[in-house]
Amino acid sequence: MNERLCSKTTCHDEAVATLTYVYADSMVVVGPLSADVEPHGYDLCARHASGLSVPQGWEVLRHVALGNEH
Ligand SMILES: [Zn+2]
Repeated sequence: MNERLCSKTTCHDEAVATLTYVYADSMVVVGPLSADVEPHGYDLCARHASGLSVPQGWEVLRHVALGNEH
């Protein structure tokens, strides 16, 4: 297994979610950790995925309940 780490530069926690920016819809999608590394995705740990802040006017769409799975 190759461990995936949070993409925040100052964070070295294990990634549990993948965040994808959908520019066309001004939407940030937070889903389960993707099997493949998405070209426009960012892997995030639980802390950063739940404490996510998005640009003004953007919506966040969550596909996972963080914290209970795994
Ligand atoms: Zn993190």
